[in-house]
Amino acid sequence: MTPPSVADTVDVAVVGGGIVGLAAARALLRARPGLRLCLLEREQGWGRHQTGHNSGVIHSGLYYAPGSLKARLTREGLREMYAFCAEQGLPAERCGKVVVASDASELPRLEALYERGRANGVRVERLTRAQLRAREPHIAGAAALLVPETGITDYGAVAERIAALLAEDGADLRLGTTVQGIETHGEAALVATDRGTLRARQVVTAAGLHSDLLVRASGAAPKAAIVPFRGEYFHLRPERTDLVRHLVYPVPDPAFPFLGVHLTRSVDGGVHAGPSAVLALSRHGYRRRDVSARTLRELAASRGLRLLARRYWRAGLAEMARSAAKPLFVRGVRRLLPEVRGRDLVRAEAGVRAQALTPDGALVDDFLFQREGRCLHVVNAPSPAATASFAIGRAIAERALSEIA
Ligand SMILES: Cc1cc2nc3c(=O)[nH]c(=O)nc-3n(C[C@H](O)[C@H](O)[C@H](O)COP(=O)(O)OP(=O)(O)OC[C@H]3O[C@@H](n4cnc5c(N)ncnc54)[C@H](O)[C@@H]3O)c2cc1C
Repeated sequence: MTPPSVADTVDVAVVGGGIVGLAAARALLRARPGLRLCLLEREQGWGRHQTGHNSGVIHSGLYYAPGSLKARLTREGLREMYAFCAEQGLPAERCGKVVVASDASELPRLEALYERGRANGVRVERLTRAQLRAREPHIAGAAALLVPETGITDYGAVAERIAALLAEDGADLRLGTTVQGIETHGEAALVATDRGTLRARQVVTAAGLHSDLLVRASGAAPKAAIVPFRGEYFHLRPERTDLVRHLVYPVPDPAFPFLGVHLTRSVDGGVHAGPSAVLALSRHGYRRRDVSARTLRELAASRGLRLLARRYWRAGLAEMARSAAKPLFVRGVRRLLPEVRGRDLVRAEAGVRAQALTPDGALVDDFLFQREGRCLHVVNAPSPAATASFAIGRAIAERALSEIA
């Protein structure tokens, strides 16, 4: 492939070939057919990071603050994700989810979740202990919520299919191309890559684990910094997968900023336990031994991380212990599934979450965009951004196209 020369000019350059960048490119071309669009991805394939390393859950919008972008875009995105998979013949299954209160102390939080789900327009049903047992004979709990429309898909396959459709629609797709700098010059931006420079009237960045670095590359200070959290999984041995029928979640623990270890089914018939949430020492820290000197320096210098650690040190240490010692992880799973034994669980591939953190130590909960010159940056697109990707893509397209006549 010949490297692009500086003379290459496009209407919109999208940086990042994960599901958010791909969905944004699709929405841009659908809103304005014939748009000259270039998609730049540093890896040799689509969806190689968060998009290809997640639980595959099509979330319902149960947890999010009413009125937030997450609450709205997840509801829209869920419908579109099911429709896209059906239309494209991709695997998707509405297997439903149960959120389980282990004992009476968790019932008030379960009830609050019920109210929140209803406020977000999610169909949610209360289950007694007996009703839970009828649906999930092996799961232990005092009561539960049932969310029938939650389901599963394979987001890596969705990403591949969006890329194929973009190619048919005339997008200029460039794998193996790393964006290094973005400079706004009047009506356009110059996007410097390791394969040359191109000129774009608008630039959208959706760089996941590198989102803050792309804001810096455009000469601005990011509203939040990315902290990588590894999510480790175990899978249930195939002969034990019949222990779980739905997706099974604990009631979220207010002392812990993630959803807690849960059991998810995948479209290939497997069942996973996880993910945990352990600070990773590299933005691509898929294994415990992956350490990047640059990430270490960033983490050590982060005031936000120090403040976060002060608030969540107990939960953080417990997660690290669970990561290092399988019996502790198994004990966590047994709260939901008492029959499970260590030998039933086999370590599986991990994912790394891009979690945005403000300088005052707050985890950014909602999706977050930042406009700088000719650039629209997606700074924070954590879970459930895969579910919401088509809706996020449309929101990006509206904002980017409003800047070019
Ligand atoms: C463990 C885990 C479990 C999850 N479970 C779920 C779930 O069940 N359901 C759900 O909805 N969501 C889930 N999520 C969240 C979901 O995976 C992400 O929100 C979503 O994939 C984000 O997509 P993205 O395109 O923003 O990021 P990514 O998929 O990370 O893509 C960003 C892309 O940008 C590229 N890039 C970075 N820098 C550059 C550069 N300089 N030049 C060119 N390209 C660059 C990267 O190579 C990458 O391909 C989970 C995430 C994790 C990690």
